[in-house]
Amino acid sequence: MSMKKIIIANWKMNPQTAEEALRLVKGILAQRLSKNIELIIAPPFVYLDLVRKNCGREIKLAAQNISWAERGAYTGEISSLMIRNLGCDYVIIGHSERRHKMGETDEMINLKLKAAFKVGLVPVLAVGEKESNDDIIKVLTRQVKSALEGIGVSEIGRLIIAYEPVWAISTSGTGMIDTPDHALSAVLLIKKIMSNLYGSEWAADLPVLYGGSVTSENAYDFITQSGISGALVGDASLKLQDFIKIIKEAEINE
Ligand code: PEP
Repeated sequence: MSMKKIIIANWKMNPQTAEEALRLVKGILAQRLSKNIELIIAPPFVYLDLVRKNCGREIKLAAQNISWAERGAYTGEISSLMIRNLGCDYVIIGHSERRHKMGETDEMINLKLKAAFKVGLVPVLAVGEKESNDDIIKVLTRQVKSALEGIGVSEIGRLIIAYEPVWAISTSGTGMIDTPDHALSAVLLIKKIMSNLYGSEWAADLPVLYGGSVTSENAYDFITQSGISGALVGDASLKLQDFIKIIKEAEINE
């Protein structure tokens, strides 16, 4: 896995028009992008093809979700192979909005990870405690262990984990933000859990990102922590100038 800083734009269920999606992509591409950053956009399914056709080679594509099922009678679902065939390299799995608003269980997340690995997609597994006073060791251990149940060491080299404390996500309504120090300690905890599961050499190389209210003002403080491999950016990724600044902060950190 590359040691480049990874920046993922999670557009969630935005923007409302293809024109706006195109404006965002073209605005990012108009920048001279550093080769030392892995820049990934995760648009809604309906814009994936449009973004793919317009994002050049510098920007990679992620889906925000996939089905755990392979094919067949699953109305409204999209399979991992469809996403792979469309030219996506990554897929976000287990985002807190899917866990808490769509009722995704640890078991579904485990099946989705397996579906992603099966077709060669790199899963970005999102984990994080719901409340700031939750038992973080307990929550992260459960989420990581259950997500990876039955997944062997041969797949782990193609995994990314994103630590996203739900209480710090900009739309959570708490108004709270995480600190770089706390984010780093959570990232190290995830590496420790992975080390116990798969061995320390795998855990050392595992990219773990931070996500939750990352803005152009605070991105530098999170991204430059040497243990944090990059950022998953929601709201700020829809504001072109802010997102460009975030990318530049990651470049400064080369
Ligand atoms: C997210 O939900 O993945 C996220 C990081 O959101 P925001 O940056 O808006 O807090």
